[in-house]
Amino acid sequence: MPNEKRKIDVLIIGAGPVGLALAIALSKSTPLNIGLVEANEKKPYKAGQGKALALSYGSIQLLEKLSVWERLQPLSTEINEVHVSEKGRFGITKLTAKEIDLPALGYMVSQSDLSHALEEEAGSSRIQILQPAKLSGIKHLEQGVEAQLETALGQQAIECQLLVAADGVDSAVRSLLKIPVVEKPSEMSALVTRVHLKKAHAKTSYQRFTPRGIIAMLPLGNSRYANIISGTHSQVHAWNKLSEEHYIDQLQDDFGYRLGKIVGVDKRMVFPLRQLHSTALYQKKVILLGHAAHVMHPVAAQGLNLSFRDIEDLERLIEEALEQRKPFATNELLSEYASMRSRDQKATMKFTHILETIFSSQSPSLGKVRKAGLLGIEFIPGLKKFLSKRGAGV
Ligand SMILES: Cc1cc2nc3c(=O)[nH]c(=O)nc-3n(C[C@H](O)[C@H](O)[C@H](O)COP(=O)(O)OP(=O)(O)OC[C@H]3O[C@@H](n4cnc5c(N)ncnc54)[C@H](O)[C@@H]3O)c2cc1C
Repeated sequence: MPNEKRKIDVLIIGAGPVGLALAIALSKSTPLNIGLVEANEKKPYKAGQGKALALSYGSIQLLEKLSVWERLQPLSTEINEVHVSEKGRFGITKLTAKEIDLPALGYMVSQSDLSHALEEEAGSSRIQILQPAKLSGIKHLEQGVEAQLETALGQQAIECQLLVAADGVDSAVRSLLKIPVVEKPSEMSALVTRVHLKKAHAKTSYQRFTPRGIIAMLPLGNSRYANIISGTHSQVHAWNKLSEEHYIDQLQDDFGYRLGKIVGVDKRMVFPLRQLHSTALYQKKVILLGHAAHVMHPVAAQGLNLSFRDIEDLERLIEEALEQRKPFATNELLSEYASMRSRDQKATMKFTHILETIFSSQSPSLGKVRKAGLLGIEFIPGLKKFLSKRGAGV
């Protein structure tokens, strides 16, 4: 419908996992009209592709509520234990689901499986999806917001009561509204791949600190593990340059034989790691979520899990306002959301940054802190439980 102005209650820009999850949550718990705008064309689904994501127990509970988990669970792998160790130093730290009385610490899923499960649920709901359509302009109105979109049929303007920016790390909404970000300079990259094992192993994930970077191994089915190596750009580049054979040899040398023999490695992808947050979570009737609001190092696997907690709180506030027959897109509600979420967001970013700094540094003094840290986790009563609970998102 070119040149015609449509009206909708909530318009979400970006159909990544965050935009999709919020759209489904609001469509289930409220009678609001929800629109979802995605710039990229829909790609054919390929199972088990993309980044491997560790979802906390808390995130799984949200996906259950959204009727997404029933689709995703058969493709997921549970994590019951996390082993943390350092090459050349004695001892490991174990965090277990048993210690915090949960069925699992979390679950591993592939990005393509998560997106597909969310898209299927959104497709079978009453959400109005515009794809491909790209946000190119925003106008604050007295009663709401006008979003200008570029679609295959030409320019289109949509008026909404609340506009949600879920449009990723280089958010167009954030730049159009000139909301500054605070970005920590980062010298770090991550290499992401999958490795194949000779024998089946599952349910334990590993973090191993080595002079050549942090090696994470996360279970994906019985004999496949997601392998993430994070380190300085040059460390990661050195891993990426290795032939397949040498990559496996070096991995086996640094990681050891905890998972037996590694027999194959998939295509490697490298991501520069950024850590940033938006200086405001909302402006008038526009709210920022997901990577548009905060981006963190994946060492603690917290980014999406934190965003899912943001979604739950936003959805609850909107639902409560509607139950009380109050307008939902108000300054009062958005400022309540921002103050409600600020503590968790700051704590999660700080926790992730501390882990990144301590564990990525090669300095001998930080090596001692790291050693003390690993032992501390084992011996300080309550600390292990705290870390397991934070990881599990409960
Ligand atoms: C290597 C790595 C590993 C990670 N591992 C974990 C993990 O284990 N656990 C965890 O919790 N988190 C993890 N994360 C973080 C997680 O990937 C992010 O939190 C999550 O992907 C953010 O989702 P999003 O929907 O906000 O953004 P995105 O997935 O980037 O989606 C944004 C969407 O907006 C669309 N868009 C952009 N601009 C426009 C526009 N102008 N108009 C319309 N649409 C637009 C884009 O096409 C895209 O589809 C990891 C991140 C990395 C880099």
